[in-house]
Amino acid sequence: MYTIKSYFTKKADGNLAFHVNDNINNVKNNRKNLALKYKFESNNLRSMNQTHSSNIKVIYHNSDLIVDDCDAIITNKTDICLLVMVADCIAILIKDEKKGVIAAVHSGRAGTFFNISSKVVNKMIKEFGCDMKDIKVEFSPSIQKCCYEVNNEMIEFVRNTYGEEIIFNNNISLQDINKKLLEDLGILNIKISNVCTKCSNKDYFSYRKDKNCGRFAGIIFLKE
Ligand SMILES: [Zn+2]
Repeated sequence: MYTIKSYFTKKADGNLAFHVNDNINNVKNNRKNLALKYKFESNNLRSMNQTHSSNIKVIYHNSDLIVDDCDAIITNKTDICLLVMVADCIAILIKDEKKGVIAAVHSGRAGTFFNISSKVVNKMIKEFGCDMKDIKVEFSPSIQKCCYEVNNEMIEFVRNTYGEEIIFNNNISLQDINKKLLEDLGILNIKISNVCTKCSNKDYFSYRKDKNCGRFAGIIFLKE
């Protein structure tokens, strides 16, 4: 069995995104402090230029520090720390401790509708030899059904695509959709979060609450 560490950061860990008009040195320091706190090499951190796509990239020790145009990264290399940034979207961390494979996924509304998390799992099975029953998934806090209001057109789309149980008056649950898609695929071990980034906003950044907010992150790495 491999040792895999995974964490979700909080506001107290600072903003971890370079693209939100924060001072670049602040972000660098926050990322360095994260490496010290969780004991990984800060040079081994890999994050993404996230674009609300369903693009998935495989990461090696010589991969770019910021991987361009993707919303999911996978590796089976030890000591590389994968980081995904969010503020209302779900950071999904996926691992297979038996095969030693990890993934970090950005699943907002677009990623959810693209079914990006299932695509990542399928890639882990096809290209890395993972077994469905060994795969464990964890969702970060995100905007929840209490606060995620969408327009009528979107409600109809979600009702027709995923079913009535995803809809709560004018709101939808991204956590429930992602969970349902992964369960339908055959994943047995899914840990969702009930914490809402918008209304339980003390610990987490929320884009719907503040358009100028920072990003918190999900991180995951494989120890030697
Ligand atoms: Zn809420």
